[in-house]
Amino acid sequence: MTNQELQARVEAISMAAFHQPFRHRAIFNARLKTTGGRFHPADMNLDFNPKLFAAYPSAITDGIIKHELVHYHLYAQHRGYQHRDHDFRQLLAAVGGSRFAPPLPTTGRQYIYVCTQCGRQFVRRRRIDVRRYACGHCRGKLRLQKTVIN
Ligand SMILES: [Zn+2]
Ligand SMILES: [Zn+2]
Repeated sequence: MTNQELQARVEAISMAAFHQPFRHRAIFNARLKTTGGRFHPADMNLDFNPKLFAAYPSAITDGIIKHELVHYHLYAQHRGYQHRDHDFRQLLAAVGGSRFAPPLPTTGRQYIYVCTQCGRQFVRRRRIDVRRYACGHCRGKLRLQKTVIN
């Protein structure tokens, strides 16, 4: 998703869920680490985490966009726009915004093992000894399929 597509998505969700236009900027900010998005009261713009948007389907990312738009619209209306505020909780629930950003997919090296008998895949952060460990489902032999570096 590009910045332009993100902007269009935020504007569309704003109209559909809040019946109010989003008149500011929504951009991706690669420096966001654990949060899905951020609302800046100073300039009314929104930032979103590009890694989360790359990793999750729109059903999840739309919830993140709604969450930030709840901050945005409440602030514009001089209502309680912070997480602890009653207005915030009520509007978040009404539009179906997400309460927490989903965890980021793990980064670093991952080992993908496949069971040679049932075909199930297993993802591990460490190498395992395939002579000692068998498939947890069928006790079949495991084989290292590939190593992924995220
Ligand atoms: Zn928030
Ligand atoms: Zn198996």
